Amino acid sequence: MTIAHNLGFPRIGAQRELKKALEAYWKGNLTEADLLNIGKKLRARYWQLQRDAGITLIPVGDFAFYDQMLNMTALLGAAPARFGFSERLTLDQYFQLARGNAQQPAMEMTKWFDTNYHYLVPEFLNSTEFNLGSTGSMGGWGLFDEVAEAQALGINAKPVLIGPLTYLYLGKEKHAGLRRISLLPKLLAVYQQILTRLKGQGMEWVQLDEPILALDLPQEWLGILHDTYAALSLDAPKILLATYFSGVEDHAARLKELPVAGLHLDLVRAPQQLEYFIHDYPTDKILSAGVVDGRNIWRCNLAAALQTLAPLHTALGNRLWIAPSCSLLHVPVDLAQETRLDAQLKNWLAFATQKLSEVTTLVHGLTQGKESIATQLSQANAALESRVYSPLIYNREVRQRVAALNADDARRATPFAQRITQQQARLNLPAFPTTTIGSFPQTADIRAVRADFKQGHISAAEYNTKMRSAIHHAVRKQEKLGLDVLVHGESERNDMVEYFGEQLSGFAFTDHAWVQSYGSRCVKPPIIYGDIFRPQAMTVEWARYAQSLTAKPMKGMLTGPITILQWSFVRDDIPRADTALQIALAIRDEVQDLEQADIAIIQIDEAALREGLPLKKSDWPFYLEWAVRAFRVCCSAVQDTTQIHTHMCYSEFNDILPAIAAMDADVITIETSRSDMELLGAFHQFHYPNDIGPGVYDIHSPRVPSKEEILRLMRKACAVIPRERLWINPDCGLKTRAWPEVEAALKNMVAVAHELRR
Ligand code: GLN
Ligand code: ZN
Repeated sequence: MTIAHNLGFPRIGAQRELKKALEAYWKGNLTEADLLNIGKKLRARYWQLQRDAGITLIPVGDFAFYDQMLNMTALLGAAPARFGFSERLTLDQYFQLARGNAQQPAMEMTKWFDTNYHYLVPEFLNSTEFNLGSTGSMGGWGLFDEVAEAQALGINAKPVLIGPLTYLYLGKEKHAGLRRISLLPKLLAVYQQILTRLKGQGMEWVQLDEPILALDLPQEWLGILHDTYAALSLDAPKILLATYFSGVEDHAARLKELPVAGLHLDLVRAPQQLEYFIHDYPTDKILSAGVVDGRNIWRCNLAAALQTLAPLHTALGNRLWIAPSCSLLHVPVDLAQETRLDAQLKNWLAFATQKLSEVTTLVHGLTQGKESIATQLSQANAALESRVYSPLIYNREVRQRVAALNADDARRATPFAQRITQQQARLNLPAFPTTTIGSFPQTADIRAVRADFKQGHISAAEYNTKMRSAIHHAVRKQEKLGLDVLVHGESERNDMVEYFGEQLSGFAFTDHAWVQSYGSRCVKPPIIYGDIFRPQAMTVEWARYAQSLTAKPMKGMLTGPITILQWSFVRDDIPRADTALQIALAIRDEVQDLEQADIAIIQIDEAALREGLPLKKSDWPFYLEWAVRAFRVCCSAVQDTTQIHTHMCYSEFNDILPAIAAMDADVITIETSRSDMELLGAFHQFHYPNDIGPGVYDIHSPRVPSKEEILRLMRKACAVIPRERLWINPDCGLKTRAWPEVEAALKNMVAVAHELRR
């Protein structure tokens, strides 16, 4: 039968129940039994919700107390040996892997493909062994117990696991010379045991996620695909191999021949791949069509989806399954909670719960005829139409401004070499200028003032006075420390994207639309629903006030268009590139207003430029071109004497240096301390032309760096970058730190600058 199934559901809970329970447990305010129980309740609740929505096969194993990759590591008994744990982890040991302990730093965490979710990176040694580990039978948590739990509730379960190739590929070798692919035979043996055991539990289907198939996978890894799945399918439930986030048409032939019972394709991100599969799709396989967007919050165009599905249904009949495009982990739980959202906008949206109904509606439409879903179709169509023609989303002036942008609007009048001389004449900075990245400690006081203001407990006047006093405080501290280029400290900002989104038209904010970022950490991305413009200046008054307190240059501090785009839910009705340009124009106006207010240095943070890179390298040039253009649109209208800075807080630049250089910021501050300035070698080889502020210490830890340490790093920097191009600054903003350590660290930093000048 054509059925509705699901690839994964958010685990954090509609009220962030899991987050709250985890944090209480870590603080010692909740017992392990209570935590386990809350996990169990959440699973039961959302399994039932999925069943009630009409989902036939319900994912089990998508729940995790911290992360699904870490769950695999636990299940495979592959905790890094450095922790010294036995194969069967206790729950506490599981958390120690994720969060570190007194002896060992946590396992590394990194982004899950191009999402904002982070997973814990498996570590492989020459001696790495895999053994059926934390299975649930001992500690009361783990896959097999969850399957049993679901069965007891009468849930038609489909266990979900990260596939072995993805698990291995996303891990890292910790021994030189080790090639992790060589661990595959050992790994497969344990996967086989797991699958056999699931079969023994009566599971008919298992879903193995292999999202790496959507990357540019090395030939060697593709070459082992067939044998891997041949081995896995020997004594196992039927295997549904799930791909998502991009197309897998390059491997269509291989995938069709694979000894698995079904394939899942993401037809939202990569609709074009369908034609590579459909004509000669094997008659012994299920095709799972991911047609409801699991990555974004827009309501599904049911009519369009039906149009895609109808010929598939004719061709495949019962072998067609319908699903969201990927796990729903990446969208919020339930739109119904958003009682304050504009009614029209709300009608355009669908969160995880609503998406499940969309999937089952599509199944009804296919199997019982369009008439059976006439109401849902007309509602979806009406919503869609109201969106297309809504004055809420369309702004003619913005569209015209974007259309009228020309090459000069994205190019500064004069080349860097000339600009920098003029800037230097105006700014008169010493060699090795010292600065910080923008934020200063967000003390409990500052947070309380913002919260009070937001909730209407204090007046705007009182809020202003208090924020001014925070700025005053930050400026005095910086002057006392002897920094050369000051910042106002960003005390008024809760978040570098939200702060701007709240002041721009075209953005909406939700009350409960949280998605998991990692562990207990959740984010609530703004929703970009309409054409973006800036009704009024956003930062100028704060900057003007801050500058009035000092004779030193004060940096104006803005967030760049790509970062705003990347950390929001974006429109699906116009290209991302167009939205980026709309934001860029708003920032451009802000930049000019700051310039008018005599702010000589303006920093535009692009913290997320790199994470916006598409999964496939062939798509990089196009992305980088529009992303760089958007940045340049922000800053190209200024005088030569206005200095533009940008900041990026990551250290993998090697493959995108031409694009970074093309941004043509006068100064770039970057993260380099954790990589011991290694990164600067790449800037050197590339002959990166403009000024660079390599971060000289890691702000993620309260540790105060010594003068010697900073000096050593700067000497390394001097060896590869001309010294007149170098600035001195921390790695990133200081908002998560406390004043005492910030002052001590910056004092050492400034002392090193003096020493270098001597
Ligand atoms: N200006 C921001 C700050 O200092 C930059 C933050 C970031 O790069 N993530 O907080
Ligand atoms: Zn940063």
